[in-house]
Amino acid sequence: MIAGTIAPDLASLYEKLFVSGHGNAAALLRQRTCSGCTITLTGSDLESVRSSAADEVLFCPDCGAILVRTEESGI
Ligand SMILES: [Zn+2]
Repeated sequence: MIAGTIAPDLASLYEKLFVSGHGNAAALLRQRTCSGCTITLTGSDLESVRSSAADEVLFCPDCGAILVRTEESGI
């Protein structure tokens, strides 16, 4: 991520979501879509998200970002 190319409030949100030591930024999962790479989860990827515990850390199968589930995740 390059600082200065996105809005400051969004940047601070990403900083809060960033998990140190892993190297991947976090992305919100909205409407079954990764906000990092805009891929829509389908099939087995969607199933694995659905069957995961709420506190389990999930990764986007495409861009590797940590998927943060919200009430808008659509899962
Ligand atoms: Zn992604």
